[in-house]
Amino acid sequence: MSKYIYFFGNGKAEGQSSMRALLGGKGANLADMASIGLPVPPGFTITTEACAKFYEIGEGELHKLLSAELDAAITRLETATGKTFGHGANPLLVSVRSGAAASMPGMMDTVLNLGLSPETVQAMIARTGNPRFVWDSFRRFIQMFGNVVLGVEHHRFEHELAAVKDKVGVKLDSDLDENALQEVVARYMRMVRKETGKDFPVDAREQLRRGINAVFGSWNNPRAIKYRELNDIRGLLGTAVNVQAMVFGNSGNQSGTGVAFTRDPSTGDNRYFYGEYLINAQGEDVVAGIRTPNQITLAGSRAWARSQNVSESDRKRNYPSLEEVMPEIFKELDDVRVLLENRYHDMQDLEFTIEDGKLYILQTRNGKRTAAAAVKIATDLIKEKMIDEATAVMRIDPASLDQLLHPVFLKSAEAKAEKLTVGLPASPGAAAGRIVFCADAAEKWSKSGEDVILCRIETSPEDIGGMHVARGILTTRGGMTSHAAVVARGMGKCCVAGAGEVDINYGQRTMKINGVTLREGDWISLNGSTGAVYKDKVETENPKLTGPFATIMALADKYRRLGVRTNADTSRDALQAVAFGAEGVGLCRTEHMFFEGERIISVRRMILVAETVKQLKAQLAAAGSAAEKAAIERKLAAPLKQYNQALEELLPLQREDFIGIFKALKGRPCTVRLLDPPLHEFLPHDAEGQREMAKRMDLKLSEVKRLVESLQEVNPMLGHRGCRLGISYPEVTEMQTRAICEAAVKVKGSRPEIMVPLIGSVKELQEQKAIIEATIAAVERENKTKLNILIGTMIEVPRAALTADAIARETDFFSFGTNDLTQMSCAFSRDDAEKFLGTYVERGIFEYDPFTVLDQEGVGHLMRIAVEGGRKTSPNLKMGVCGEHGGEPRSVAFCHDLGLNYVSCSPYRVPIARLAAAQAALRKREG
Ligand code: PEP
Ligand code: MG
Repeated sequence: MSKYIYFFGNGKAEGQSSMRALLGGKGANLADMASIGLPVPPGFTITTEACAKFYEIGEGELHKLLSAELDAAITRLETATGKTFGHGANPLLVSVRSGAAASMPGMMDTVLNLGLSPETVQAMIARTGNPRFVWDSFRRFIQMFGNVVLGVEHHRFEHELAAVKDKVGVKLDSDLDENALQEVVARYMRMVRKETGKDFPVDAREQLRRGINAVFGSWNNPRAIKYRELNDIRGLLGTAVNVQAMVFGNSGNQSGTGVAFTRDPSTGDNRYFYGEYLINAQGEDVVAGIRTPNQITLAGSRAWARSQNVSESDRKRNYPSLEEVMPEIFKELDDVRVLLENRYHDMQDLEFTIEDGKLYILQTRNGKRTAAAAVKIATDLIKEKMIDEATAVMRIDPASLDQLLHPVFLKSAEAKAEKLTVGLPASPGAAAGRIVFCADAAEKWSKSGEDVILCRIETSPEDIGGMHVARGILTTRGGMTSHAAVVARGMGKCCVAGAGEVDINYGQRTMKINGVTLREGDWISLNGSTGAVYKDKVETENPKLTGPFATIMALADKYRRLGVRTNADTSRDALQAVAFGAEGVGLCRTEHMFFEGERIISVRRMILVAETVKQLKAQLAAAGSAAEKAAIERKLAAPLKQYNQALEELLPLQREDFIGIFKALKGRPCTVRLLDPPLHEFLPHDAEGQREMAKRMDLKLSEVKRLVESLQEVNPMLGHRGCRLGISYPEVTEMQTRAICEAAVKVKGSRPEIMVPLIGSVKELQEQKAIIEATIAAVERENKTKLNILIGTMIEVPRAALTADAIARETDFFSFGTNDLTQMSCAFSRDDAEKFLGTYVERGIFEYDPFTVLDQEGVGHLMRIAVEGGRKTSPNLKMGVCGEHGGEPRSVAFCHDLGLNYVSCSPYRVPIARLAAAQAALRKREG
């Protein structure tokens, strides 16, 4: 028969700290603290397995299963406390609290003072001689039980309480006397009967049974479900329930309650003991903010007073520290702090109660902390010899490093801000600026010194300039790999994407969010780490990347095997990434350079005539007679001139770009990808842009229109893009290769790697490679030099993965383009899948959005096939990842396990990837 209940108390415990999964974090630590003799009120833990049963067989059947064990546990608790449950001269009251294996603070339910009834109230009054305290406990119990278990709305209790306060003319709950509290109880009882149709239950066993059910039930309340979703807490059975003898912090002025952190949870500081307490109060009062709690230590209290402009004499009189008020208790508590840290080797978050001058520890757990605190605490604990380097590296959540890399909102300012909506947290950071609705406006406004937020339904490559100058980007459509999201992350720019509640009207230059209308020029603020959109300007501050952060990064580098490169399209991005520790560029998307300044005109000129040139060249080659040839040549002359002019204009511009990036990299490798996106993305779709091109190219407007339309595709992502462009227009491949090679000649020690996108067949690669090799040879000849340039390919088409053994014969490296590989293997459009992927994840069809977290089972399987195929042909073939997954910790771990050489990610994710790579290596080492 399963054991569902574990007892603890009086220096002994049936459970232990290793039983987290079964007893929950709170239960396991209570057992552990009891077993080492800490002053823990006795109690018992009902296991998470019982919670699973609750959902499996229902509460009635569960209680049949538990009944004998529960009776025995109560009897044991009665013996341990010398009290009796539900009756007698010395009644036992208990708290009933949740506690899952992963900490979910405040998400589930708690009931305190359970066991009170009119009968036990009288007994307790007789025993304590403190009727005010007893009536206060009873009214708190009815309120909590009534709300949590009976489902009576909170405000109904507040209403009754306020009525009594009004009647007796007091402002604070703590000013209510015994008679007033008795009246509150009577009103509560009447109100509960009216609301529920039944009397408030006064039988202690029934109260307990229903309390346990409520806590089990709260495992699946919407708040708890959302919390687990947001914090990626999975695979748990449920919550445990801890039933523990009550101790009373509200039994008089020798009593009190508090919460404390053994180190500062915001900064990690270890100068003093961080915590707050209240005299004559119960735990909820500290958290609820009804009364302002005081600091535990004198140093903390003085620091608090300084920050609040409170004079020392005022502080001493009205806000004294526990150290001053109860020096002995403080000393005992401080000893507990040292003992707990030495035992758990981590910062602890503990709750304590003082009952009539005696200290009790109600719980301890590893404290939640900011990323800044996490790195400081981990590095301090190494110095204090409490943990080793590997443990410190494992302690930091790589994703949390985001918080350290981007400007952040001042906490106090964000708490006060008006939240308008929440979209996808597409690129972290905090940004405040004036609303603009198009890229041009963004550029214009920012030139005159304004901070702007670019708000678009979605963005396209044309918006790059505006995105570049904007403080942040808000889109109403598109997901985590939408253009806005990818580009913003690349720029390290805050972005909230897919905020569906925002309704943008470009014509009127307004947007509506949940009834609020905002106009161009109004201020908004974005939190790219949470997806929140706020009205007005919320104040920000800059992060610091030195000290403990640098120490943790150095340790990560010591333990990782996987290389970390960056995706960067400009020298500025490359420099930033190198500062964050990137070992090179794993993906330079050349097309991102095409939008700056005048160059888009050259690009458009090239694209508009490319197809005509191609067709006429083919006709020329097939022409029979000299007359026929001459006629074709006449037709070809003008478009060919435009085509060559465009290529000649682009060549030096691209070369300068590469020179800048190679210089920034100082000898680190740089993978440059040849042109990839569908051409129509570069074309002018508006009349003004088309008129401009007609003028520049000396063509009729109707002709430009026709050319633009002819390049339109039904399914461009599977259309004329990637290496297909280079195959159709070999001159483009040649021009790009030449720009790379000439830049390499100019920057000594540079290490370019040319990468061909969207290969599906080895023959595509062979064709492109021939052009690349011939161009390299030509540049070498012209410059009388030898260049060391690798030629590689992306693996982003399923067919490429499946035929990787053949492709490996023609290539120096593979770089997995997991964005396209996901799109093509799942058949999920990168641009549209957000419409249904949310539902897919909710229903568990996919565990995560596969564009965010690599789908290891499907896409990962294709990668494994490609790795095996590639290495069969070429055992030392260099392989990396350059899709968005390269900066996502779980995916990085998968890449490590797959034996890849490196991951490449946007500059601001480089530190995350470094840490995730180290953790993957350490996890493997630990087996
Ligand atoms: C990819 O497909 O994963 C990739 C890196 O290329 P892009 O996102 O530019 O298509
Ligand atoms: Mg791709």
